[in-house]
Amino acid sequence: MISKTPLEDWILNKISSNGGMPHLTRSAIEAFQLEKIRETISYARSKSPFYKNLLAGFGSDPVIALKNLSMLPFTVSDDLKNHPLQFLCVSQSAVERCVTLHSSATTGPAKRIFFTKEDLDHTLDFFHHGMSTLVKAGDRVMILLPGDRPNSVGDLLSRALLRMNVESVIHGFVISPDKTVDAVLKHNITCIVGAPVQIFALFQSGNGRKHLKGRITKVLLTTDYVPKIISRVLESDFNCEVYSHYGMTEMGWGGGVECGVRCGHHMREADIFIEIIDPKTGQVLPDGEAGEVVITTLNRVGMPLIRYRTGDISRFLTKPCPCGTVLKRLDKIFFRMNSTVYLVSGEPFIIQLLDEKLFALPGVMDYKTELATRGDKDCLTITLSLRVNSNSNEICAAAMEKIMTIPQIESSKKRLFIEPIRCIEEIILSSGAQKRVLLDNRKEQL
Ligand SMILES: [Zn+2]
Repeated sequence: MISKTPLEDWILNKISSNGGMPHLTRSAIEAFQLEKIRETISYARSKSPFYKNLLAGFGSDPVIALKNLSMLPFTVSDDLKNHPLQFLCVSQSAVERCVTLHSSATTGPAKRIFFTKEDLDHTLDFFHHGMSTLVKAGDRVMILLPGDRPNSVGDLLSRALLRMNVESVIHGFVISPDKTVDAVLKHNITCIVGAPVQIFALFQSGNGRKHLKGRITKVLLTTDYVPKIISRVLESDFNCEVYSHYGMTEMGWGGGVECGVRCGHHMREADIFIEIIDPKTGQVLPDGEAGEVVITTLNRVGMPLIRYRTGDISRFLTKPCPCGTVLKRLDKIFFRMNSTVYLVSGEPFIIQLLDEKLFALPGVMDYKTELATRGDKDCLTITLSLRVNSNSNEICAAAMEKIMTIPQIESSKKRLFIEPIRCIEEIILSSGAQKRVLLDNRKEQL
């Protein structure tokens, strides 16, 4: 039998401050969210020059029902790049941690996100209760995320695990699969947390296949969208339970985590309010329909965000979760809007289309790909990272055959040249620090 997500009791406790509520209901969650949204708007307007200006002319208390929130303007990524300090609601001395986020695709100013100690405590608390979905005292977790600095994501996760008597090793991103597998063995690791492709490459490496099956029983994939094929291979070939976490720095890193059903994220509904909007019209969409994820923070002190457009496309699942919770389920992220490139044929293209084909090939650990211009055509280059001693000729031929079955490539044939696929052995190509994209070098050549 599948246990109810531990996030339900956690959220009940947060909402029912005097313990007077016997169990959580949707109406109790929504009443709490409404109260917190009103507080956030009032607070942000009085402390943040950005929101004072953005929300001027919207009345003193514009959100008297949750549906009124949709009348307020959005906050976008460029706002965080262009005026980060104008979002700040506390003195700079009260900022415990500032995160600078560089975009992989563009140059120009970086986003800056500020957290106070109280903000970080909320994240720590979410990590604690979220991780209790999959680990318990006695488990040993390897964190393949940065954690050298105090209050970095790895440090917060490690501290959250200690609250449950779960020991962890902050390893950082995988650079050499052999060294990471050695560390897994040395520390008797039972659960790994990290970026999907990094973890996949680790398991698919020569030593990963030899040593990780039966040893690592739980995996939490985070920081980037999760290709379906990666979850499937880790579950079927390595008998791992594979959980997905959805979050981003703007959410305070943590957003939501799957329960034992492993079909959709239960979100920190007492900390973040989520809307799904039509990215073209900005209209709020009903549950079940896919659109852009928009967040409003409910208890942020340093830098609250109101209707922040994440650029991620997903939807709320409409059926109740089989775990029995009243919490909603946010589906896996389908894609990120800024990762879409348009081929000269006019077809939109995302790297996910290649992921589902290439990670299905035995021996493929990782790959990188880029688009360039050749005459009036696009030129697609793919480099595969293969497990040592793989039959590279056979795999490269199979890869070419597979990608030709992608409809967007099939219909672009006349305007698309695909270079013969190259391969290298046992190298991890996805850094983990950046979200993966199809590298588009065409702009520089124009
Ligand atoms: Zn559930």
